[in-house]
Amino acid sequence: MMAVLARSVLVTGSNRGIGLELVRQLAASPWPPHHIFATCRHPEGPRGKVSVDTVNVPSIQGAVRAVDSHLKDQGLNLLINNAGVSSHATLHSLDSQEMLSVFATNVVGTLQEFLPLLEKAAKGAGKEGLSCSRAAVINVSTKLGSIGLCLGVLQAPMYPYRASKAAQNMVTRCLAVELQEKGILCAAIHPGWVKTDMGTEEVLGCAPLMVEHSVRGILTVLASLSQDTSGTFLDWEGNSLPW
Ligand code: NDP
Repeated sequence: MMAVLARSVLVTGSNRGIGLELVRQLAASPWPPHHIFATCRHPEGPRGKVSVDTVNVPSIQGAVRAVDSHLKDQGLNLLINNAGVSSHATLHSLDSQEMLSVFATNVVGTLQEFLPLLEKAAKGAGKEGLSCSRAAVINVSTKLGSIGLCLGVLQAPMYPYRASKAAQNMVTRCLAVELQEKGILCAAIHPGWVKTDMGTEEVLGCAPLMVEHSVRGILTVLASLSQDTSGTFLDWEGNSLPW
């Protein structure tokens, strides 16, 4: 199996679900990153030092400082924007405040603050081409945000969630174009329909995919990303999805 060979990785929303499993599998890899920043809103205990609430800019800035001080001059190789909230609302029940709140978490998140650390990593000695081991932003998206597919509107009435993920996809696409010259890869990944708190919300029924299986696939896909696949939208099996 191909492995992600990044020296440093930061995962948002890593206290449960897909984020937690990403951290577990990265740490258990035969070639684990030297630094894994498993961030979450409310870290507790002596080892839980990096807090990132993705709707709180001072919290993100604090995390950037903490990460920078650990990594010294080497910068951050891989940022996985995994934290997300789902929101169910039909055309009739949707509420503008809820739309904005979901947008703040799923789209704005850590969009800007970590870029200087990623740029630093991209400039590291001997690094060429685009890859997750050099410098990359991976946004965890969903098929439900694909405008091209526009899947099951009546079965998955999630206007706030779906609109926010479509917006996140556009951000990913724009970032990929803008950051390519700086040596930073960007891609969106759909993890499948996964048995997590979010994936098993009652309204949707029973998710088929175990989180271990999804994350194994995601990490294999991340390891394979290159110049040719930056700016793409892939699922956990590496299949290309329409934006
Ligand atoms: P969970 O609901 O299990 O976990 C969501 C994570 O996001 C939690 O760690 C949560 O932290 C965190 N989070 C939410 N808001 C914030 C915030 N403001 N700041 C920091 N962390 C936050 O969901 P999954 O693990 O299933 O989802 C992970 C990602 O995968 C999401 O982006 C989701 O949209 C995407 N996805 C999931 C699918 C599935 O089937 N499960 C399908 C398609 C996409 P806290 O505990 O503090 O709330």
